[in-house]
Amino acid sequence: LGIPSVPLKLADRRVSRKLQVGKVAVGGDAPVSVQSMTTTRTSDIGATLQQIAELTASGCEIVRVACPTQDDADALPVIAKKSQIPVIADIHFQPKYVYAAIDAGCAAVRVNPGNIKKFDDQVKQIAQAASAAGTPIRIGVNAGSLDKRLLEKYGKATPEALVESALWECSLFEEHGFRDIKISVKHNDPVVMVNAYRQLAAQCDYPLHLGVTEAGPAFQGTIKSAVAFGALLSEGIGDTIRVSLSAPPAEECKVGIQILESLGLRQRRLEIVSCPSCGRAQVDVYKLADEVSAGLDGMEVPLRVAVMGCVVNGPGEAREADLGVASGNGKGQIFVKGEVIKTVPESKIVETLIDEAMKIAEQMEKDGVLS
Ligand code: SF4
Repeated sequence: LGIPSVPLKLADRRVSRKLQVGKVAVGGDAPVSVQSMTTTRTSDIGATLQQIAELTASGCEIVRVACPTQDDADALPVIAKKSQIPVIADIHFQPKYVYAAIDAGCAAVRVNPGNIKKFDDQVKQIAQAASAAGTPIRIGVNAGSLDKRLLEKYGKATPEALVESALWECSLFEEHGFRDIKISVKHNDPVVMVNAYRQLAAQCDYPLHLGVTEAGPAFQGTIKSAVAFGALLSEGIGDTIRVSLSAPPAEECKVGIQILESLGLRQRRLEIVSCPSCGRAQVDVYKLADEVSAGLDGMEVPLRVAVMGCVVNGPGEAREADLGVASGNGKGQIFVKGEVIKTVPESKIVETLIDEAMKIAEQMEKDGVLS
């Protein structure tokens, strides 16, 4: 009512260096990207490419593949070439695979300084090879494989220990003029992890890859990641994210994308606003919300659909959404852009909402909203 609306936003993004992971920019003003990791044997090229295709379809922007054996290293050139999204090789223990991944044309290489033996002696050669090929390196520190020296110094994987490990490795690369680096300092405890990233963010300008490591099964891992990423991203910290779940990797991407959408860091696509139901509900809200979600699954349009159980908050929420229903007395009032367009019997609510959603999506396409 006469009060100018100010767009709400989170803290300004931390200023970080920008680097290219293949076609995807990470850091600087680049959008926060979502990545995941394949679960196939990398040496099984067909299965790995199939999973990468599924990940790409689920919105994954960067994919990491494990490289524990020579057979896996041998598969990298084909995978890097045929993947639709940039491929990062994940290297532990054997520096020789770092060179293989660079030669294979991988978009980046992740190294874990805690468990590559004599890694520090090889930094010069790795920096030279990566620099010549234009391949960035992620220094991926993990609480479970922290450098022994730091474990002894700090007693356990504290935020300080994780940060010291990462920055020590960076300093070795910097000695050879190599700064095409991004960093992760993962821990399975979101509180330790958040503190580690905060400290890291304050001490360097490298882009940061956020992750809660070994976050657990889907439900627990989703909550841990959402809480930790939410805290950091709302402070402007984080340039690329990986949700780790004991679940198929496409699920990780869906969660990652949803976290970014929830924070307004990427355009929201379909959003279902549904009430929790209560003793006033006059329809089965859970069933209705599930059926509407299933019917609109895969829709890419930025559409807000309200599914409300009664007239207490129903009309208000339905009016605020692009499309909505307020239910009561065995009927549903259907709202489009704030106006009641019709009232339908309960049995027709789902199909009517889906129909109207399709019409709005078509109109958006015509209006170029989606381009
Ligand atoms: Fe309960 Fe109605 Fe609110 Fe849903 S909209 S939670 S049914 S009061």
